[in-house]
Amino acid sequence: MKTIGFACTSADTPLAPFRFERRAPRANDIVMEVLYCGICHSDLHQARNDWGWSQYPLVPGHEIVGRVIAVGNAVKRYKIGDHVAVGCMVDSCQHCDQCRKGEEQLCREGNTQTYNDKDRITGERTYGGYSKHLVVREEFALRVPDGLDLSKAAPLLCAGITTYSPLRTWNVGPGSRVGVIGLGGLGHMAVKLAAAMGADVTVLSRTKEKETDALALGADRLLVSTDEAAMIKAANSFDLIIDTVPVKHDINPYLPLLDVDGTLVLVGQIGPLAEPSTVPLLLGRRRVAGSPIGGIAETQEMLNFCAKKNVLPDVEMIRMDQINEAFVRLERADVRYRFVIDMASMPAPEAV
Ligand SMILES: [Zn+2]
Ligand SMILES: [Zn+2]
Repeated sequence: MKTIGFACTSADTPLAPFRFERRAPRANDIVMEVLYCGICHSDLHQARNDWGWSQYPLVPGHEIVGRVIAVGNAVKRYKIGDHVAVGCMVDSCQHCDQCRKGEEQLCREGNTQTYNDKDRITGERTYGGYSKHLVVREEFALRVPDGLDLSKAAPLLCAGITTYSPLRTWNVGPGSRVGVIGLGGLGHMAVKLAAAMGADVTVLSRTKEKETDALALGADRLLVSTDEAAMIKAANSFDLIIDTVPVKHDINPYLPLLDVDGTLVLVGQIGPLAEPSTVPLLLGRRRVAGSPIGGIAETQEMLNFCAKKNVLPDVEMIRMDQINEAFVRLERADVRYRFVIDMASMPAPEAV
């Protein structure tokens, strides 16, 4: 089927309208009209080939909410008119131990990314949610629960699950002491989700500047990480610290904050860190871990949790033609806290 999206054709060209073909739906595929797509920091990285594996033309977008407009003849879960969502992956092997456990994000053969990847059957390029339509196998579509605001739900599909999954993995609940480093798209979701789970939540920030925002998002306090006396006083007082900083940084100041067996989990930076010291790790039996998105079942659980607890990201809605401006602002961290593209603003294919 013919559709339209916004693509970049090289690492240094802006995104521009792009007409392309989506595959004809297979028996287990649904066709969705994309209604909203969030803008993730990794969209910017891949558009600019920061990780070195981008192929062009590249249509970013992996925080996708839409409506089913057609279904293949073997589709069981969805019907035309259903509201559905797609996150960072659109396929996996479905038979390895991780896939069988519902941890498709950890598929032994590698999951298929929603964009900048290759279809497992035909080898065609995958194109993401900055587009009018998407074709996806039903197993990788999520149901958007009734009552979840469609215009705000999109960022849950990456920022939401990326922070929800470690909170669940490390059994956060009432009384858990959770720290969040970085108050951007991921960090603000970590605060909201941890608070909704009943945790005691502290935002760690270099200055006091974000204190009002942190408290408004549901944090119990803000700890200024450059305040040495306050940091010493906070030693051994966290069970889990979620580090959402998306660039190379130094984790050493944060490690002494963990209690015995406490964990600092990295979810933001994909790449090198400043050299960590093992001293606080060994002496306090502390841990450093990483965590990527979550499985399909856990993503559905997260959407249901957000609908029940009314947890939604703070979003700034933009038109499709504002995407390049949004990328510039995202790079400056000038967004509270996630951009979402209203796909009704996509130009008609015949107009391009
Ligand atoms: Zn993302
Ligand atoms: Zn697998």
